[in-house]
Amino acid sequence: MRPSRLSNIGSACLSDGQATRLLEKYEDSGKGWFWETHDDGTLAYLSPKIRRAMADCMIFPASLSDLVDNDASLAEEASERSLSFYIASRLPFEGLVVKSKARGDIWWSVTGEPRHDEAGQYRGFVGFVIDLTDQKNSEIKLLQLARYDSLTSLANRDTMRQALENSLISAAHRRQRCSTMILDLDRFKLVNDTFGHLVGDQLLKSVSERLVTSIAGRGQVGRLGGDEFQIVFADICEIEILSSIAEDIIHSLSQPYLIKSHLITIGTSIGIATSDHDHRSAVDLVRDADLALYAAKAAGKGTFHFFASQMYEQARSRQQIEEDMQRALEKGEFHLAYQPVVNTQTGDLVGFEALVRWTHPVRGSVSPAVFIPIAEESGLIIELGEWVLRTACIEAAKWPDHISVAVNISPVQFSSQALPVLVTSALAYAGVTADRLELEITEGALLDETAKTRAAIATLKGLGVKISLDDFGTGYSSLGYLKNIPFDKIKIDQSFVRGATITGNNNIPIIRAIVNLATDLSMITTAEGVETEDQLALVRELGCTLIQGYIYGRPMDAQAAYARTQTNQSIVSGFKTDRAERRRIIRAGRIGTQGKDETVRLRNISCTGAMVETSLPLHVGDLVSLNIGLAEPLEADVRWTKDGRAGVKFAHLINLDDVFLGKPKASFKTFVPNYLAKESSELYAPKERLDPKSLTLR
Ligand code: C2E
Ligand code: CA
Ligand code: CA
Repeated sequence: MRPSRLSNIGSACLSDGQATRLLEKYEDSGKGWFWETHDDGTLAYLSPKIRRAMADCMIFPASLSDLVDNDASLAEEASERSLSFYIASRLPFEGLVVKSKARGDIWWSVTGEPRHDEAGQYRGFVGFVIDLTDQKNSEIKLLQLARYDSLTSLANRDTMRQALENSLISAAHRRQRCSTMILDLDRFKLVNDTFGHLVGDQLLKSVSERLVTSIAGRGQVGRLGGDEFQIVFADICEIEILSSIAEDIIHSLSQPYLIKSHLITIGTSIGIATSDHDHRSAVDLVRDADLALYAAKAAGKGTFHFFASQMYEQARSRQQIEEDMQRALEKGEFHLAYQPVVNTQTGDLVGFEALVRWTHPVRGSVSPAVFIPIAEESGLIIELGEWVLRTACIEAAKWPDHISVAVNISPVQFSSQALPVLVTSALAYAGVTADRLELEITEGALLDETAKTRAAIATLKGLGVKISLDDFGTGYSSLGYLKNIPFDKIKIDQSFVRGATITGNNNIPIIRAIVNLATDLSMITTAEGVETEDQLALVRELGCTLIQGYIYGRPMDAQAAYARTQTNQSIVSGFKTDRAERRRIIRAGRIGTQGKDETVRLRNISCTGAMVETSLPLHVGDLVSLNIGLAEPLEADVRWTKDGRAGVKFAHLINLDDVFLGKPKASFKTFVPNYLAKESSELYAPKERLDPKSLTLR
């Protein structure tokens, strides 16, 4: 049976047959269909196509609402009232959005009105349905677009804000706390710039996958845009758990990625903020996590920080420094200090490194470690760097020709096209030849070893200036640079030198390896941060070409630097030894020189030398043989003598573990200092059980 009213529509201009064919065609198109019910609600007419489609999930005769998934439909905002409500109350309805019971996600918009006979008697409903499935799918897609990031399918910034708001509300109800992490990828921009956006996009996808895996459902992961991600933890607030999650993330994201046959390594820094039963909103919490992120980045990247309230103060202070720095250049508040660099073997002065200093009218002296990063971020480093370069060249012009000047070039300056022109101009203005200028570049400036970097270095070297790789060993993938970029010099970071004379680390083999590598590549080395005679002896032995450190002078003003160029004497002003690196020990032994042999008491020892007490008359420069019960006697030369005591320097570095942890031959008695008396038996405990620093059992 065909719906009577509808077929009547056609009576004005269409024959019944034409109308029927058109309606059939319409129903066949799948765009919509017609329906009609009896007065008892059962279906009087249902499009055959729908009848077939619903055959699996319906028993006929059925009512219209039997075709509809009422739960899903009611969840739909548009259908505040159910289809059965309208039909039962015999009220007309229009565009009611319902979900079909048929398999798949099929949505309909249903319109109907009650029909009455000529006597006004209610005869049921008649109506039509428009298929909404396509429209609904695109709505879902739109919703998806509005709430999720299209590249990674992670929740977007809005959704994450919502998630954090919900978590805050729910945590407050439960009298609990919730947390959020903000992550920023280290070196992502570089990957994007170097390998292009396709690789960058793929990297972001891989990062998202690793993040989701690391979080393993414990929180919601979102992407805020660019290389910034956020995680919301609705019910995790414990510092230990959050720290362990952050560590996992950092570890996971810093594993290499293989993308379009490029092996890429990046890192991430994380800021963490936890709600604190206070009134901080989602926006506040994100700001706090951002401040913590900033602190993590400032602490050297690849790490995480928790928010702490003093970070507000730091952020304000940073802002203030940035503003003050703008004026400092004009007001002449900057000056340069010059630190001597000397030849390791001869102690001759070979050059100075120019180091910028800022005397702030209120704060006093501000460390470059504080203001350089701010200048880099604000872009002021370009102007400041130009001033440094020009000033250093003008100063160097006053020095003898063989004394060079080294200037630090920040990554921001290095990537500027104008650098070669600036260098040429600074040299020409000062009248200094290019071979006397060294530019110190950190690994950060080179980022990845790309054609662009190589071209920039080639241009600078073409001018005749020298290029040093600064702070070597503190960055990443350093070996790649060394093979492909023709540096003149490698500066071994002071952290290696500082620890080298303390046992229990690998600094000595690392320094040795760097020196060997540099030699193979025809580069020279500078050991930075040499402060003590111990360290001096060590870097000499390891074969570093040059030395820069407090032992040969702290950074000094221009006048003092000039004066230093006029005297050709090397001034060693460091401690004899680094006190922290010595170990107290009292061991009896024998000391021999020039055929004479006497008892000796060892008072303290380091890997490079020892202080001994003996009645044997010793003189500075004497070569001695010290037998303290090790496998071999130690060869040493006397460096100083006073009141029956002498300082001796070993001919070769020794391993303190052999002295402290190896059991000496029976005749060599060790007098254990009082504070260790009780534990004397433990001194010879198995090596792995003894903490070499404290000499106590683990
Ligand atoms: P850097 O380039 O590694 O400079 C060496 C730093 O080590 C200097 O610190 C110097 O005073 C310090 N130093 C040298 N010998 C010793 C030592 O024996 N023991 C110890 N503990 N420290 C020693 P300073 O002057 O505070 O500079 C810190 C950093 O600031 C520099 O590290 C450099 O990265 C940056 N910087 C300084 N001046 C400039 C500049 O003009 N431009 C740029 N871009 N950066 C600069
Ligand atoms: Ca430097
Ligand atoms: Ca350095």
